Amino acid sequence: MESRFSVLNDTEDLQTDIENTLHFERSKTLFEEIRASLNNNDEEDRSFWRPVLPWGGVFTIKAGRKALSCIPLYVQIHLKNTCTIDGFLMILYVILRDNQGFRRELAVFLGKQFVEHFLYLMDSCDYTTVKMLWIWNRMSKRQYRSEVHQAALEIDLFGNEHENFTENLENLMSTVQESLCSNPNCPARFQDFIKTTIHISPPHELPHKDPIQSAVDEFFCPKLVLCSELRCDGLREFSQRVFCHGPPAFVILNMQQWKSEELSYVPYHLDLCQHRYLLEGATLFNKEEQHYSAAFQIDGCWMHYDGLRSDNLILLHKPPELLLLSSLVYIRASDR
Ligand SMILES: [Zn+2]
Repeated sequence: MESRFSVLNDTEDLQTDIENTLHFERSKTLFEEIRASLNNNDEEDRSFWRPVLPWGGVFTIKAGRKALSCIPLYVQIHLKNTCTIDGFLMILYVILRDNQGFRRELAVFLGKQFVEHFLYLMDSCDYTTVKMLWIWNRMSKRQYRSEVHQAALEIDLFGNEHENFTENLENLMSTVQESLCSNPNCPARFQDFIKTTIHISPPHELPHKDPIQSAVDEFFCPKLVLCSELRCDGLREFSQRVFCHGPPAFVILNMQQWKSEELSYVPYHLDLCQHRYLLEGATLFNKEEQHYSAAFQIDGCWMHYDGLRSDNLILLHKPPELLLLSSLVYIRASDR
């Protein structure tokens, strides 16, 4: 059947739709507008003047001539529970616009076309298409639920933001640790352990230095543990962990295991594998509402983004309360 609506992963059609909308250029990027609003804001007016990346979204598929000859399966896509990607998309946008050099670096992992489209769509305030771009280009189908209701396809992104976003960044944050077992008869003496995300746990004892820096050091440091191979009583020695593709432009630390009381202080600087990283943003979780939001900084001013609020981008004067930290985002400091 010749229907452009009959298949779900129609990335090509999405690309065409995106290209067809490349007809106007805004004089200022969204990032420049947000930055300008920070400087003009007075005490009374603490929010950005229009909504940015609102929760959910409806994506309408433009029916082509071919589609008229057959009954389309669906003509709209309704997005639900998009907060599992929204906060990170916002932070990714700010990082890319605020650091021109990162665009090329990220293109190596995410593809040049993806990065260019992503920035263009954000600047065009085409927020539903940005989310569709992420869902179709980066996520795998098993990461979300989809169902056809009458003439609309519903895509529900309910879940965990680390699964829906962080795990879809390819090898950007990949690290490897080599290991060797002391037992010559071990069934797998040499092993490489690759991790694509950075999940850090709170230290067991209160460390002398900053707990987050200690946890990061622990993640990267060499260690000696009992070998876990069957019938092996050897000791397995792990080397220093290193980034597979050099220090990434940014890192996302998964902070889900940390309690609020362990996080009274979040460091602005972090040393990671002999590189200096600076705090750029964080994602936050509201347990009662099962809802994610995000905070990020531009020129040292902190903003809180929450797609469900009507004023969804507001200037922060103090850290948001009653929210759990889901992640911390650090960007690589320039070598200068
Ligand atoms: Zn062994």
